[in-house]
Amino acid sequence: MTRFAYVNGRYETQSAASVSIEDRGYQFADGVYEVVALWNGCPIDLLGHMDRLERSMAEVQFPNPPSRMALKVIARELVRLNRIRTGILYIQINRGAAPRNHPFPGDHINCSVVMTVRHGLGPSDTEIENGVALKVEEDQRWRRRDIKTIGLLPNVLTKQAAKSVGAFEALLVNPDGTVTEASAANVWLVDAGGDLVTRPLGLDILGGITRARVMALAADAGRKVREATFTLDQVLAAREVFLTGTTTFVLPVTKIDHTVIANGHPGEIACDLRDRYQAFLNAHEPDTSWHVG
Ligand code: PLP
Repeated sequence: MTRFAYVNGRYETQSAASVSIEDRGYQFADGVYEVVALWNGCPIDLLGHMDRLERSMAEVQFPNPPSRMALKVIARELVRLNRIRTGILYIQINRGAAPRNHPFPGDHINCSVVMTVRHGLGPSDTEIENGVALKVEEDQRWRRRDIKTIGLLPNVLTKQAAKSVGAFEALLVNPDGTVTEASAANVWLVDAGGDLVTRPLGLDILGGITRARVMALAADAGRKVREATFTLDQVLAAREVFLTGTTTFVLPVTKIDHTVIANGHPGEIACDLRDRYQAFLNAHEPDTSWHVG
């Protein structure tokens, strides 16, 4: 049986329905969703689901969220088109399609709205009769920052918070007071003795390719690099602070919230490392450096 989906104003067969590859749900997991049980063709606890959906949309600051009345009309039509009695209604609302960039794309971009339905609901008869087994696992949701996942909603929200106060990036601090990284870059400081310090690899940061490159360039320059955790206070009191990343290269930081770092000018060591990184870039002859193995 043909199944219909709803995508941004259109009811289409599920096989034909598609979203833009610039969709922020796809690019950043910058979206929220609900799954509603359908029983006798009726959505179960729709009020609770709509309340939670509206709360989720408000928490992630969608500028033009669809109304619950509009969503209800779409859902009802989809259930009718698919002739579902018992099944599942899936609703995804995301921040819409825009050129890929972490901060919010602006109020002129409409949310994407996708709905699908599916026949069938619940565990099997055997599972219900026999009960089911569980396995204990550490709750690591949002804590595996070492994986370069597209689940970037926390990064999007923190980057936007930084942008909203005119800052370039967000400096992220763990509950224990130690600094992890920025929303899309690794963080470094230069201590009073002139040593470079950056957080050790682990679950708390993404292992930056630029971080590794800058470590090698710093070693070539005879500088000492220490991989150690450090606190926000240590960053604020540092001789220099800088970021590294694929698109930022080596970027000096001169201010964090209201605190000016050192004399408020890009540090000498950060600038030297940026020059060395630039030289490393320039050493690439056109078309000769595609080594991946
Ligand atoms: N940390 C995070 C969270 C990032 O998203 C990125 C890059 O996007 C980095 C660090 C820097 O990594 P790389 O130097 O590989 O770009």
